[in-house]
Amino acid sequence: MMSEPDQAVTPGAPRPALKRLAVVGLGLIGSSIARVARARGLAGEVVAFDSNADVRARAQELGFADAVVDSSAEAARDADLVILCVPVGAMGDAAQALAPALKPGAIVSDVGSVKTAVLSALSARLPAGVHIVPAHPVAGTEDSGPDAGFATLFVDRWCILTPPEGASEEAVATVKHFWTQAGSNVEIMSAAHHDLVLATTSHVPHLIAYNIVGTAADLEEVTRSEVIKFSAGGFRDFTRIAASDPTMWRDVFLHNRDAVLEVLGRFNEDLAALQRMIRWGDGQGLFDLFTRTRAIRRGIIDEGQDASTPDFGRRSAGTDAGRERK
Ligand code: NAP
Repeated sequence: MMSEPDQAVTPGAPRPALKRLAVVGLGLIGSSIARVARARGLAGEVVAFDSNADVRARAQELGFADAVVDSSAEAARDADLVILCVPVGAMGDAAQALAPALKPGAIVSDVGSVKTAVLSALSARLPAGVHIVPAHPVAGTEDSGPDAGFATLFVDRWCILTPPEGASEEAVATVKHFWTQAGSNVEIMSAAHHDLVLATTSHVPHLIAYNIVGTAADLEEVTRSEVIKFSAGGFRDFTRIAASDPTMWRDVFLHNRDAVLEVLGRFNEDLAALQRMIRWGDGQGLFDLFTRTRAIRRGIIDEGQDASTPDFGRRSAGTDAGRERK
């Protein structure tokens, strides 16, 4: 609900910049949002807060926000848009802490990698008269913290919005405009669909990486130096994914349990089929599968979501060369 009736949105019409943007949580994603908002003039003022005093001090030094304040309520006061950039399991507490300071008609969004659980956590804690428009920028690196962020992180990446049924079109359009201006392509879907899609494309792949690296680490007692020495053969790429932030990923699995278990069930069945092919010498079956998967990889490169370089394209996608650090 808004304090004023929603206005009709003309698709593609220029939208006024936000007067005040509040960013809560100043790690990789939050600090990148603050940086791009400043770099591209997406808000008149960017106010930032993190519950960690060391992070606040570092954010102050890096200077990627107009103000770094000592409470989330202070950040949220008078903000047109508040973006929660904290781990999924902390979203509810973060929303509760700033709820009393929100002005009527303010928009609260987030960047959590899980959407159904975050939507219900926010809905339970935020007052009527505030618009909830959850978002997930499908962009990131394995690094975390305020030093890890950079203004071009979201360029040519997808950002998925999962507004609840009946959400204000105006509020959704404002959040969509923000992400488009940050360089992203925006898609809108239901929270439940998002969680199933991301369980398949991101969550279960991370789980597999954590698992294979853990298995190899256990084996390391037997073959100590070989694991590192011969890591180029695929293992190295798994270690990059398995170096991702433990808090973030713990929360992802605890809060997207059903979708992850559903996809894992399918994965286990397919793995059993592969085991059978190997056991029975079904070379044609293996060849056919590997041919199919290779085509998927080529499709991702063709769509510009990665480069063909063996570092998964992170450097060429702009994380090093294109960094606009403050
Ligand atoms: P991060 O680098 O670890 O930063 C999160 C920051 O939030 C930390 O400084 C943390 O402080 C702080 N924080 C925790 N609870 C808080 C609270 N209640 N109020 C204010 N600040 C709080 O994490 P990130 O990688 O930016 O991830 C943030 C969110 O983005 C997560 O929900 C994640 O699912 C989502 N996301 C991440 C990626 C990625 O690749 N990393 C991609 C897309 C979306 P402490 O360290 O002291 O806890």
